[in-house]
Amino acid sequence: MIMKSPVKVAVEMAARKKIIAANWKMNLTHREVKSYADVLWAEVGVVNEIEVILIPPFTAIPALAEALEKNPVARLGAQNMHWEKCGAFTGEISAPMLRALYVNYVVLGHSERRRLFGGTDEMVNRKIIAALSAGLQPIVCVGETLAERNDERVEEVLKRQIQEGLKGVNSRHFHDLVIAYEPLWAIGTGRTATPEEAQEAHAFIRSVIASVSDPSTAARLRIQYGGSVKPENAEELLRQQDIDGALVGGASLDARSFGREWKGVRRPRAVCPPIMPGAKDEFGVFVVFHVLPK
Ligand code: PEP
Repeated sequence: MIMKSPVKVAVEMAARKKIIAANWKMNLTHREVKSYADVLWAEVGVVNEIEVILIPPFTAIPALAEALEKNPVARLGAQNMHWEKCGAFTGEISAPMLRALYVNYVVLGHSERRRLFGGTDEMVNRKIIAALSAGLQPIVCVGETLAERNDERVEEVLKRQIQEGLKGVNSRHFHDLVIAYEPLWAIGTGRTATPEEAQEAHAFIRSVIASVSDPSTAARLRIQYGGSVKPENAEELLRQQDIDGALVGGASLDARSFGREWKGVRRPRAVCPPIMPGAKDEFGVFVVFHVLPK
């Protein structure tokens, strides 16, 4: 196994701002979002060191955009979109429509879309390309079923979803992507991947990203974990080297509890051994700093 210099690891991690997203799924009406934003604002206030995204149902997007103008505690996301800009697609929403509502992020390939609504890797790929060209940042969900994990097919599944999903995506757009690792057996089940299981999958995803782009792009790409994240397990998961945030479903519906999930993430932490700046570390790399910025 190739060991990375702790300095290189610290620099890469520092470049990846943590990203915590609340996927409300089919919950909360436009009437409920103002009080949610008010409670979240009261709980956490201004957040600079992590990026927070609220992802309501389409119907609540305008009201939430208005609430966030007053209490700028988070950015806006959407739960899905169609790949065409407009046309005869009853019931669908396009990327330009989301942009017109000041939406920044869009979740694509969520397992509920794949499993319940016929979403395929090819559809996810078309949506990713359309979202990026409209200026939206896709949060691309990947993850295996329990049967696939039991059959030791985790890597095969993740590799296929990433390679197919990102086919034809221009490498200059990779910086706008977020990947969410969401093992299906952990979504809405109360069963969370252990920090070790999640870290192993995230490191693998990063290696696949490196193979379809390049190592430095992969080192900068943010990978969230999703699957029964709650205040009690968020901090330990987010302490793992390749886990750059969380996509939270059920536990994000209560603004106070969702706010608590980031408390641990916001604490400063030292990730490198305390070596004097100016010295070389054990890997012979020149040390510029040795403690991550908050
Ligand atoms: C999700 O649906 O993206 C999710 C992670 O849900 P939950 O947190 O409820 O498992």
